Amino acid sequence: MLKSCLAFSRMPQKLYPSLTVVSKSPIRAFSIAPALRKHATPVLYNPLSKIKGVRKDPTKKSPLSSLLNNNAEWSKNIHQTDPTFFARSAEKQSPKILWLGCSDSRVSAEQIVGAGPGELFVHRNVANLCIHTDLNCLSVIQYAVDVLKIEHIIVCGHYGCGGVAAAMRPDLNGLIDNWLVNIKDVYAANKERFEGVEDQKSREDLLSELNVGNTVQSICHTAIVQQAWKRGQNLSVHGWIYGLEDGLINELGWCVSSPDQLESVYVYQNPMPTKRRRALPRPKPESV
Ligand SMILES: [Zn+2]
Repeated sequence: MLKSCLAFSRMPQKLYPSLTVVSKSPIRAFSIAPALRKHATPVLYNPLSKIKGVRKDPTKKSPLSSLLNNNAEWSKNIHQTDPTFFARSAEKQSPKILWLGCSDSRVSAEQIVGAGPGELFVHRNVANLCIHTDLNCLSVIQYAVDVLKIEHIIVCGHYGCGGVAAAMRPDLNGLIDNWLVNIKDVYAANKERFEGVEDQKSREDLLSELNVGNTVQSICHTAIVQQAWKRGQNLSVHGWIYGLEDGLINELGWCVSSPDQLESVYVYQNPMPTKRRRALPRPKPESV
């Protein structure tokens, strides 16, 4: 019996001329590598079936059943109103916008701009930051820019951001302080702008706006964006902020479309060559 599909998909095909993937579970967890499909039938295997405690208890009602019911209803409605939607959607995605927003549950990217499935490529984290050691965020940006060829990156913060408010306080919060320190840096770099702003909410709102601007800059400072500009790719980075109290987006006026708009110290003059490396030679059959 095959125990690891991941390992299986990497196995040399010639060593496993006939394999049968067996599963007692009805869950279709994943499909198998195309090159191996002809050697494996049927493709039904639940990778969680052997892990103690993960089996669903049929006597218990899921606390998330309302969400699942909503999903079934949504799927049914789409099937009725747009019968080819899922076929088109499964084929490929071609969004033109990358959305980088806060993880806050009240700022749902698609909902607040009326976008449908497939229109936004989305990355969210606490207080909408782009940190140059965050491989998650950078990977999203790179995929969006280099592969999907998105044309706009929208950084959307929001007023009343808990992450921004926490960054203004001296309290210890645990691990997340290592993340929030980046917002403290924004405050420290713009301290003079807070002079005369006494009201705490106004101070937090100002820092929320500056934090969006800082993230816009941070994205533009990546080699990913600058190489795209160098290639002549049409790409703009925008800074927006959303109001929880009225549901409206405030365009903050940050829109960067070329390296000329950046501080010169951040501009790479000699981007890495985009030419592809030669593929490594394939191993000889007898060495496998
Ligand atoms: Zn937030």
